[in-house]
Amino acid sequence: MTRFNTQLVHGLPVNDNNTGAVNPPIYNSSTYAFESVGTMPRWDYARSGNPTREFLEKQIAQLEHGTRGFAFGSGLAAIHAVLSIFQPGDRIIVGKNIYGGTYSLFHEYFERWGVIVEEVGTTDYKALDAAVSGESAKGNAHGCPAKAVYFEVLTNPLLQVNNVTAIAGIAHRHGAIAIVDNTFVTPYLQQPLDQGADIVIHSATKYLAGHSEVNAGLVVVKDDELGKRVYFAQNRLGGVLAPNECDSVRRGIQTLALRMDRQQENARAISSYLLLHPLVKSVHYPGLPGHEYELASNGLKGGGAVLSFEVVPGVDPADVLDNLHIFRLAVSLGAVESLAELPCRMTHFELPREERLKVGITDELVRLAVGIEDKQDLIEDLGQAFDIAYENYLKRHAGESLFTFAQHVYA
Ligand SMILES: *Cc1c(COP(=O)(O)O)cnc(C)c1O
Repeated sequence: MTRFNTQLVHGLPVNDNNTGAVNPPIYNSSTYAFESVGTMPRWDYARSGNPTREFLEKQIAQLEHGTRGFAFGSGLAAIHAVLSIFQPGDRIIVGKNIYGGTYSLFHEYFERWGVIVEEVGTTDYKALDAAVSGESAKGNAHGCPAKAVYFEVLTNPLLQVNNVTAIAGIAHRHGAIAIVDNTFVTPYLQQPLDQGADIVIHSATKYLAGHSEVNAGLVVVKDDELGKRVYFAQNRLGGVLAPNECDSVRRGIQTLALRMDRQQENARAISSYLLLHPLVKSVHYPGLPGHEYELASNGLKGGGAVLSFEVVPGVDPADVLDNLHIFRLAVSLGAVESLAELPCRMTHFELPREERLKVGITDELVRLAVGIEDKQDLIEDLGQAFDIAYENYLKRHAGESLFTFAQHVYA
């Protein structure tokens, strides 16, 4: 067995085209000929399966230490298919601060079809246990164990760490399965199936594809029965990833470790810089220097490359964001280029302000998705944008007494 970084590059043999090509071919065919009416070919119709998609599906199954993988047209299509294995009346416990699109899929779609969704903070194990067991459930659901716990390993945008081993353990104690969105972490930093999870989901749009050029979703299971149910949903709902896009994700995965190493190195440098910057009030990053023990005790090999920070009161975070030149002002994450965004306006605006503030997503919070550029250039880009934000701050407060000024700064 080869090691992870070798598996990324050539985990699967490329052996079906008799040409010596080092990459698997892309099969642009929606249909496949039968030899005769009496035979069932391996491939018949591309939605049901095709060799290009199968390559990617086997690749991610291998990297996540599962038995079967599935590729979808987006992360949300993957999540939709996974949640479609449940039935009306099934109760699903959902971690707090999950991806907004997933939150909406649960509440605005699956609840309409009778799935019962209950949110719980997944770091409060007592509350989680009571919720999964049904002890804290209301009405008819009282005493009736949940069917699944759904959560993300690193929450967005505050980067709180969820412990897969602990959460999956609680789920299993009550006969529920654990479904983990591993998008922010990738199998390079943690393989949730090894920690007890039953289903792993990726928005492969992010780190796995890694170049902001494709929307894709991946699912991996380790249990045959679950695999059959997810396959049924994939084939019937039909939100599959097209062959060309499967190949983009396959190629992206080959450089995952290289990219993630550089992205994490940059994120660590930027987080250290931000911690010392006078216009920065707080920094949220699980990979902060000195936090190695917390990471390791949660089974993580690194903190990833998304971080967030708050500017001090009075400074307008838009002044920072609008004046960045290397960081692009954009949502999404995990790609080679660095991106910056304002969660309250760009990724989390659908959350009512009070809800947002309650979970800590303030109006001053900025999220960075760090890329592979030179870290010094990224830090200098932030530095010059902070300088402009400070000048604007001084202009806004020109003429105010030193007393009012101090009140703002030390508010
Ligand atoms: C982006 C994202 C999704 C949704 O994936 P799409 O590819 O945009 O459909 C789901 N979960 C997380 C954590 C994400 O970051």
